[in-house]
Amino acid sequence: MSLLAHQPLGQLLIGRGFLQAPQLDSALQEQRRCNHQKLLGEILIEMSFCSQTHVSEALACAEGIPFAGITPRLADPRVVSLLPHDYLTANGVLPLFLVEDVLTIAVSEPANLFLLEEIERRTGYSLQVVAATAHDIRATLEAYLPEEQVFVVDDIGPEGAGQSFTLLDRPPRSDPKIAAPDQPAILKLIEYSIRHALAEGASEIHFEPSESGLRIRFRIDGRLCEKLRPPRRLHAGLLTHVKEMTGLDSAQCALPQDGRMRLRAAGRTLTVHASTIPAHFGENLVLRIGADDAGPLKLEKLGFGYEMLKHWRKLIAQRAGLILITGPSGSGRRATLYSALQERNGPDSNLCAIEDAIEHPLPGVNQFPIDEPAGFGFPAALRAVLRQEPDVLMVSDIPDVQTGRLCAQAALSGKLVLAAMHSADTLAALGRLMHLGVEPHLLGATVTGVLGLRLARRLCPHCREGYEPGSAERRQLDRHAANITTLFRARGCERCRNTGFAGRVGIQELLIPDANFADRLGQGAAMSDLRPLAQAAGLKSLRSDGLEKVRAGLTTLDEIFRITT
Ligand SMILES: [Zn+2]
Repeated sequence: MSLLAHQPLGQLLIGRGFLQAPQLDSALQEQRRCNHQKLLGEILIEMSFCSQTHVSEALACAEGIPFAGITPRLADPRVVSLLPHDYLTANGVLPLFLVEDVLTIAVSEPANLFLLEEIERRTGYSLQVVAATAHDIRATLEAYLPEEQVFVVDDIGPEGAGQSFTLLDRPPRSDPKIAAPDQPAILKLIEYSIRHALAEGASEIHFEPSESGLRIRFRIDGRLCEKLRPPRRLHAGLLTHVKEMTGLDSAQCALPQDGRMRLRAAGRTLTVHASTIPAHFGENLVLRIGADDAGPLKLEKLGFGYEMLKHWRKLIAQRAGLILITGPSGSGRRATLYSALQERNGPDSNLCAIEDAIEHPLPGVNQFPIDEPAGFGFPAALRAVLRQEPDVLMVSDIPDVQTGRLCAQAALSGKLVLAAMHSADTLAALGRLMHLGVEPHLLGATVTGVLGLRLARRLCPHCREGYEPGSAERRQLDRHAANITTLFRARGCERCRNTGFAGRVGIQELLIPDANFADRLGQGAAMSDLRPLAQAAGLKSLRSDGLEKVRAGLTTLDEIFRITT
């Protein structure tokens, strides 16, 4: 497979300026001293003459194959499971992707032809080989799970169940009769999932039964990643148990259910929401980990720029008006609403929140969950709550024209209304309300602000890598008149589980209608006419706020172009 004449590793490294001749001599001496029990590359790394990356890169060059920096995001989990996990770990092999019967694999020792032949034989595919460092391969393999056939629940840790968290308010329905043969394994699995989800900062745990097993995935920084694939026989018991913990009816498997539990773990008290939905291979279960009971995000933590935070604080401090918060799912609308309510929270004001699902109990706020089937939808809830004279009213969605009108009328009658909506940006939110049938004059008279939101993945500060923009990136930046000389990209280190990202950063645009904009909005002007007026009123787009965060090295250019359109 090697196209280039073999050149010794030491010479290659010297040629590339990564090694000095005297260093090579002492490494070769060491190799003779240990009777050639170690590879030269290993010795060079051990003696700190070269980095693992330099050695792997040179080895790849010697074999005439490409060198790849790999991260868990690069590998396809279905392809990783083509070979037994133990085999991959023992041999330092990572299957990356499979395209038309050609399997791309990363290896740390590309010269090991016996290994490559064996992989071809075992998988039946022809191979495309890339070289990577042993460290990157190991880290990526660790991010994936063992196969079902090698899955042993005892492998997942010596801890007994219930040690790393305590269930508060245990529901009274607990039924000791459900003890099954797999009970200890099930308890361990639940315990493991919750403990690791908390440790890794996951926001959700998904339990998904399929033909081949029970897939357990965590949502970390907005993305799902597979953690475990235990045998499917554990699924029924796990469901029963979690239903008991979260106050659901464990006998009911045919209808969706929602419940919750409160936990004390690692010094935090949290609410975990459970939702089950019947699916083809059994019920899907999602556990959503709420914010600490200590309180949801503070405004400062949402990533507002200094100027915008000032304007936003002023807006939500007003006595009356309609403020819209808009963005797609998972853009931080609820966290922003909660943090705004917290700012207004005080013993002298009546704060009410009407929510499709209460994500998090807020001390000092009257929270009302809507119940559509019972006839307590958004309009009915709003009418009822308005009779109790709230000072600040939060509404988690405006699904119809009645809700929209009621919000505007409440604002007209001197209340501050904060309402979330599902639309692309600030102007789209106003357009959506008009499209629903809310009268433009109501909007022109009441809307005091519209906040558009996105969440971008935040670069890990410990390993992010600065670089000069390439020509394509230069063009993108120029098109947005963004004068940025250094971009940052994800690299991956131990602290970020090799993903290169850690946590998220909010991207915002804030529209504060001036008199001119409000007049034209009230007259029902078309969006195309409103856009320049919004800009004249100081609206800066989500993308330009995103580019500010790129400039600050908080996220990547790709990420901003992916989440803003
Ligand atoms: Zn990192």
